[in-house]
Amino acid sequence: MAKKKVPLRTCIGCGEVKPKRELLRIVRTPTREIDFDPTGRASGRGAYMCPKKDCLDLAVRKKRFSAALEVPESEKKIEKLAVALSEHFSSKTGTR
Ligand SMILES: [Zn+2]
Repeated sequence: MAKKKVPLRTCIGCGEVKPKRELLRIVRTPTREIDFDPTGRASGRGAYMCPKKDCLDLAVRKKRFSAALEVPESEKKIEKLAVALSEHFSSKTGTR
């Protein structure tokens, strides 16, 4: 029986390894911006995170986005991203 391998990724917040499909993707755009990638298909370097406020907070506090995506630290960009992600969480009820 061919066992299908589940792609795993590490959450940049809590550091847990989880199936890629359970994580949110954050991507570095060609213009070196940090962007939330709801489809998971945008091209560019990606970072992954649990769809949880806790992990978002951790990733923001520990500046994991810029580290994972190798972009210069920019509080404004991270803030914008955090807002976009928060909105994404609150639009999905019952995920926690
Ligand atoms: Zn996490």
